[in-house]
Amino acid sequence: STEGLPTSSAASKGVENVAIIGSGPAGYTAAIYAARANLKPVVFEGYQVGGVPGGQLMTTTEVENFPGFPDGITGPDLMDKMRRQAERWGAELFQEDVEYIDVKNSPFTIRSSEREVKCHSVIFATGAAAKRLRLPREDEFWSRGISACAICDGASPLFKGQVLAVVGGGDTATEEALYLTKYARHVHLLVRKDQLRASKAMQDRVFNNPNITLHFNTEAVDVVSNSKGQMSGILLRKVDTGDELVLEARGLFYGIGHTPNSQLLEGQVELDGAGYVLVKEGTAKTSVEGVFAAGDVQDHEWRQAITAAGSGCVAALSVERYLASND
Ligand code: FAD
Repeated sequence: STEGLPTSSAASKGVENVAIIGSGPAGYTAAIYAARANLKPVVFEGYQVGGVPGGQLMTTTEVENFPGFPDGITGPDLMDKMRRQAERWGAELFQEDVEYIDVKNSPFTIRSSEREVKCHSVIFATGAAAKRLRLPREDEFWSRGISACAICDGASPLFKGQVLAVVGGGDTATEEALYLTKYARHVHLLVRKDQLRASKAMQDRVFNNPNITLHFNTEAVDVVSNSKGQMSGILLRKVDTGDELVLEARGLFYGIGHTPNSQLLEGQVELDGAGYVLVKEGTAKTSVEGVFAAGDVQDHEWRQAITAAGSGCVAALSVERYLASND
């Protein structure tokens, strides 16, 4: 029970206009827009990623493709700026994970371990996490050889001109492999099955690219390092024969999909088969009126900071319109 727990300052007067869940580019952008529209948003920032607010970019170093930073900016710096901008306009920030949501009854209820909030609308911006292989040395080489985003990291000095490998057999993996051929000396695509799952068009592009070597029936077992402690190869196992071999490579990219953080909405809002929140095309509207979604939790395709921020803006402006029409 949350009886006796504090409410937010505005809620003591009644029901909040909007609660925003998540503190990635989508959540903070929504908070900036909602605060500037005088909606006094409350933001549950969460701390699931690395125990700090700020979302996925807190786990990276340089962000080179966010407009406005011609010399690049580190992920944590960028998120700190967004956070301060939201705060400056009066968004109320709680560093708490939401543990329970009820959007079946209006006003909606949102509960963390610290408080319960009632609100007229919700922006769900809880992001997604790249699926990992859980290799024994994965943590040691995460961002130092292992990555889950070719668009983010492919052009970095760590990988440029090197031999790289991608794991996976679907559209994500084939797209990552094709993208990496722009920068890499050569790309190996490691596929556990004996065929690709990717669309026919993507398969053709991979088969016809001389800079990609396909390895079927092959799984990555671990990464291998050289005497300088740099990643130098990948230990592979052939699933059909059990044979093990080391493939020389300086980078390993995971293309095995993402898990959207949508568990709280299960059974309340329509999700797709992979758990992404379904929004009406070109909008932030979910299947429940007053519930909006933004960022990676509703985007299985682009998954960039700028697209997340853009959809956070759309969600906040939609909330403004929604509340005005219900006045
Ligand atoms: P996220 O950033 O995933 O944030 C989600 C937020 O929701 C988090 O703050 C989390 O704590 C919170 N949350 C989750 N559950 C709850 C809960 N129950 N209660 C409260 N809060 C909750 N993109 C680029 O454009 N350029 C790059 O260079 C780039 N580099 C990247 C490097 C790495 C290593 C990774 C992993 C991603 C990178 N990306 C990059 C992708 C980019 O980070 C994402 O597209 C973007 O962060 C998505 O923003 P988001 O707001 O949707 O969600």
